[in-house]
Amino acid sequence: MESNYNGLTSKEAQDRLKRDGYNIIHQEKSPNKVILFLKEFKDPMILILIASSLISFLLKEYIDSFIILFVVLLNSIISFVQEVKAYKALSSLKKLSSPKCLIKRDNKELYISSQEVVEGDLLILEEGSIIPADAKLIKINHLLVDESSLTGESFPVEKKFVSNSETYRLDYVYASSEVLEGKAEAIITKTGKNTEIGKIALVASKKKEQTPLEKRLDKLGFQLGIITIVICLIIFIFSYLKGGKLMETFITSISLGVAAIPEGLPSVVTITLSLGVMKMVKKKVIVSKLPSVETLGSISLICSDKTGTLTQNIMEVEEAYFDKYVTNFSSYKKEIFYFLLCSSVNKEKGSPTEKAIYNLGEKIGIIKEKIDEMYPKIDELPFSSTNKYMETTHIIDSKKIKIIKGAPEIVLAKCNYKNINNPTFFDNKQKELVIKDISVLTKKALRLIACAISVEDKIIFVGVLGLRDPLRKEAPLSVERMLKAGVKVKMITGDHKDTAFEIAKKSGIAKLESEVMEGKEIDSLSEKEFMKRIKNTTVFARVSPLHKLKIVKAYQKLDEIVAMTGDGVNDAPSLKMAHVGIAMGKGGKEVAKEASDIIIQDDNFSTIVDALEEGRNIYANIRKAVLFLLSSNIAEVLVMVSGLFFSIPLPLLAIHILFINLISDSLPALALGLDKKEEDVMKEVPRKQKDTLFSKDGMFILFFYSLLIFFLTIFSFLLPPCLYLYNLDLPINIENIQFAILVDEVLMKSRTIAFSTLSLCELFHMISMSSINHSLVHILKKKNWLLIITFIVGVILQILITTVPILTTIFKTTPLNFIEWIIIFLLSMTPLLMHEIFKKKTNH
Ligand code: ATP
Repeated sequence: MESNYNGLTSKEAQDRLKRDGYNIIHQEKSPNKVILFLKEFKDPMILILIASSLISFLLKEYIDSFIILFVVLLNSIISFVQEVKAYKALSSLKKLSSPKCLIKRDNKELYISSQEVVEGDLLILEEGSIIPADAKLIKINHLLVDESSLTGESFPVEKKFVSNSETYRLDYVYASSEVLEGKAEAIITKTGKNTEIGKIALVASKKKEQTPLEKRLDKLGFQLGIITIVICLIIFIFSYLKGGKLMETFITSISLGVAAIPEGLPSVVTITLSLGVMKMVKKKVIVSKLPSVETLGSISLICSDKTGTLTQNIMEVEEAYFDKYVTNFSSYKKEIFYFLLCSSVNKEKGSPTEKAIYNLGEKIGIIKEKIDEMYPKIDELPFSSTNKYMETTHIIDSKKIKIIKGAPEIVLAKCNYKNINNPTFFDNKQKELVIKDISVLTKKALRLIACAISVEDKIIFVGVLGLRDPLRKEAPLSVERMLKAGVKVKMITGDHKDTAFEIAKKSGIAKLESEVMEGKEIDSLSEKEFMKRIKNTTVFARVSPLHKLKIVKAYQKLDEIVAMTGDGVNDAPSLKMAHVGIAMGKGGKEVAKEASDIIIQDDNFSTIVDALEEGRNIYANIRKAVLFLLSSNIAEVLVMVSGLFFSIPLPLLAIHILFINLISDSLPALALGLDKKEEDVMKEVPRKQKDTLFSKDGMFILFFYSLLIFFLTIFSFLLPPCLYLYNLDLPINIENIQFAILVDEVLMKSRTIAFSTLSLCELFHMISMSSINHSLVHILKKKNWLLIITFIVGVILQILITTVPILTTIFKTTPLNFIEWIIIFLLSMTPLLMHEIFKKKTNH
């Protein structure tokens, strides 16, 4: 009864889903928003700020207290909103990359998310499926399963209808194991926590993956934190000993700490990464392992599949070779009948290769479904890329006939007779002639499939079909873009070398036939010879998945950062081994997707190029944001410490630093993190893996701009006392300046000017960081509105703070005249001016 089981109806499935819940072992709770918001306050610096606000309040310094609290709240709200956005982006990404499985409901086969299967669902297993739940097998066809995730045993288990008494029965399949070979049908018996793997809870819930960059920046943030705390303590003690007011020195050193610690750093990186990967989804790229985004930009070599990636994977039989070349197929119905019978295709599903044969049958009046009914399979060895052939057995006219279909050289090697109507002996010499004849077809870039039938002791050659799989129109351009980006392109295919070379030539990957290497050559060459040969090889033909692994390893030994595409179940090891494993979303097996770092939804090579571009862009944006944040923070610290060093009052007040921290640091860093892409990211050579954010001119940018902004701020701070001395006809020297700055109005003006200069300097610096190598005109052309709005809002706020009476009271500023503003603007534009000078030097 069970083997006729047709699955549940969707209504039944829905009811069971309500009753039993999702097929999940670890329920990941979506975080409570209130808790997420409160978490913003667990940062020690924020806590210290809140404490200082409280102390100010108790000391009746109400304005200071209020301002500190306001800035803390605003800061927390901004990072909360960012984090929620990042969380949403990452969890929708997770949904997109979670495994799917094939089931039968309402008498129809459909792919659903593995989380949605319920008890009683009819599961259809095929090569490469990941088993979503425990299930009892009802049909088995050479089923080989990898149960190592459950048992730890690495050898495959062959499933059979015997009920053994061990824990893991042979007539059952278990959640989290993978189908290596064969086909089967099974009824789901247990889901979620009730499955065997659920009971032992081997699958630890995945923590949020931190990318290497995030980890390094976390560490950097921590180190900077320690340094800052030490500096703060020194400042506090010195200022206090020098007679500063306890409260003022306390708040100043605290706010210095907040200014110096780049708290924006982790959140800018997270938000840039998560919004960046969501942008990639729109371009049909799903990043399943977040750290790979960084590696993606540094790949120096890509090994790409041919079929479907560089070609359209819409195959059509164009020519055939039976006893001669044939383009009119109607007189060869009997031969085509065998090709069709030995396939696992139907109207709805089947590989493009088999669909082409199905369509050919339809054209000449052979309907696959009908012949399947008349001559059902009594046995089947499914097709695999390793074997490169398949077999089916049928009873035809009371005779047991085995049909073999696969790559010509493999099928031919098995044959001993030719001519199905009147079998004659087929010797090796004749076979060689056939191989020579059919090479005419491979030279036309056709994919060849041969067929033979085995009756009693005769294995009779039937013929060869030539399938056209047109090159994707965009392939040559995409290959060119990849090569221009400094990434070497290699093609790996299971197809014949001539077919492979023709496609490689058309897409611009190869020029000479000598660039092609075959799988059998890989086996015959010594390690040393192989390593030497692969340098000039661009096409690997007739390779098996095992060869792929060898190729990845070899290129890695040559110090290449390798990306590898794959779709089959046996591609999983090479996908894992490559620095970036890229699985095909449409034609790829679940196992391959699970092993990969990135899934390309449309299987298209040009999408991989887009992914590379996005990856490089995300990294570039993070770099810009980090360099900007750090140089701003260093400048702020230098300004404050110099006040102490020159025995003058601190150039900036706590409120000023808090304001700069928010408006001129965090928001601009975010605007840079989400900046539009630079056209030339695809013209640069791949970044070396050991390169850090500070490599190339990063260190220079960091220190040059922090020193520049520091000098400009201090210069502006000293202008009012110098002018004061000048008006009094007094000599301008350090002693007199130290005296003049103590005059209340002078100090107020000095601080207002220094505050405005520092704030505007950073806004101008933000603009220049948008494009390190290009001019302002280019930056404005990019139309990054977030950047422009941040700049305008920053400037307006700065002017308001120094003009609106209530704000001048709060921020302890004084109105400035037109000339003073001109001076501030001229000084503040210096970073942009310097960028205009340097960009030419760094421009490639
Ligand atoms: P690519 O790497 O370009 O995607 P591939 O690795 O998918 O190619 P395979 O599918 O392994 O290539 O096919 C290798 C050879 O096996 C083909 O050239 C063809 O001769 C034969 N072949 C492919 N599909 C079938 C099939 N369904 N039945 C029989 N033979 C097949």
